[in-house]
Amino acid sequence: MENLIDTCRENSMSHKLITTLNAHTRDLLAEYEVLTGEQIRQRIDRAQAAFIGWKSVGIEQRTELLRSLAGQLRESKEENSRLMTLEMGKPIAQAESEIEKCAVLCDFYAEQGPRFLQPEFVPTDATRSYIRYDPLGVILAVMPWNFPFWQVFRFAAPALMAGNTALLKHASNVTGCSLAIQRIFTDAGVMEDAFQSLLIGSKQVPDVLARREVRAVTLTGSESAGRSVAANAGQHLKKCVLELGGSDPFIVLEDADILSTAEAAVAARTMNSGQSCIAAKRFLVHERIYNEFVEAMIEGMEKLTPGDPLLESTQLGPQARRDLRDELHKQVQQSIRQGSELRLGGRIPDGAGAFYPCSVLSNVTPGMVAFDEELFGPVAAVTPFDTAERAIHLANQSRFGLGASIWTADVDRVSDLLPQLESGSVFVNEVTKSDPRMPFGGVKDSGYGRELSAFGIREFTNIKSIWVK
Ligand code: NAP
Repeated sequence: MENLIDTCRENSMSHKLITTLNAHTRDLLAEYEVLTGEQIRQRIDRAQAAFIGWKSVGIEQRTELLRSLAGQLRESKEENSRLMTLEMGKPIAQAESEIEKCAVLCDFYAEQGPRFLQPEFVPTDATRSYIRYDPLGVILAVMPWNFPFWQVFRFAAPALMAGNTALLKHASNVTGCSLAIQRIFTDAGVMEDAFQSLLIGSKQVPDVLARREVRAVTLTGSESAGRSVAANAGQHLKKCVLELGGSDPFIVLEDADILSTAEAAVAARTMNSGQSCIAAKRFLVHERIYNEFVEAMIEGMEKLTPGDPLLESTQLGPQARRDLRDELHKQVQQSIRQGSELRLGGRIPDGAGAFYPCSVLSNVTPGMVAFDEELFGPVAAVTPFDTAERAIHLANQSRFGLGASIWTADVDRVSDLLPQLESGSVFVNEVTKSDPRMPFGGVKDSGYGRELSAFGIREFTNIKSIWVK
């Protein structure tokens, strides 16, 4: 596993080191010392002490701090976009958009957070009865590398707005981003220790969760990490939110416009070089337009420019880690052996960066790896169907349930299909995406709990009933 070799070596003083690499050149970027058990204990104590102060800060002041966070994000956009691109290889233009999206999120919770957290009066036979949303305390966030800023802010902005304090265990390959995010919180004037980045390995997560002061955990990442963290949370009876993988269906009905839908399909599959949980991964296409659609998709993918992710013109960067790229290639090869047809890509190019070409596998069926597993890279699995009912059946024939999209010229005809899809969101004639105004999360093996909107900010609150007689 490259990650282990890359990110967790012993130095001569036998302190564990996290090593980060330039995703494009594989050159060493930096080395960071992992916190010791004692240092972790001190950090948790400080987070708990900060919670006592932070929860008493008025909502107006927290609102101001969120606005200040948005300002800091925008001010440091250039430097932090570059850092993201260096560490995990996303095209620089997409890194810049990610930072802007984080700022918009902070603005959103600054504006709407007070309303989401206001006590709600409920008529009962009490003199006065209402619901309060009180903070829980110190929340641990275990986060992935694919959207190194967005995933963290998506949790931290609402969690801190609600009065919690946060400890971040970020993915090791984006440790520079983890520290940059902590700096943004400090520069924005957020109370010291209310947000701390913990430089720890995944094996240290259970020890953090075991501490009484840590009240809940949120993990965005793979299924295996989710299962492990959820088991630990269960052992300590702690609240847990899981945002895991997906294999989103992209359903193209026979009346959809082929060219514009294929263009959307290419964008949906290749954004972030294919490394997105809500990327469309399984393309279910009506048999009447199947061949034409696959051709249009191939043509669209061939037009994308791969290359140095620091160049504004680059549309497809390297995969973030070599071990993940190699795993993706194995999935492609196995799917070919199982009978799917490779129509584009499928070969590892030379060079240092972990590039993988845009690839299309057609005639993919359930039981094949490309259908059953998550393909975390720019590989489209395409499957024909004959009726809309069959499309829904295929869409649901996955253990994942994050997002789904349906493409049609007649939006009215799909209204009966929407409730049948087993996913946390369904988009009609739009690429699946996250938006601060709407809840985000999955069902089945894609996890549980919701982020964003009023639902997200209330996940880490004590929803308290008050009854006064
Ligand atoms: P990952 O390997 O699960 O890593 C995610 C985080 O979990 C990292 O901080 C990692 O630390 C940590 N981790 C790994 N194993 C752990 C364990 N056993 N106990 C505690 N922590 C552990 O996932 P990834 O490769 O970074 O991200 C890709 C996956 O995330 C994909 O499946 C993708 O679909 C999913 N994802 C989901 C969403 C969503 O919103 N649903 C969003 C983005 C990504 P180290 O780096 O130190 O190993």
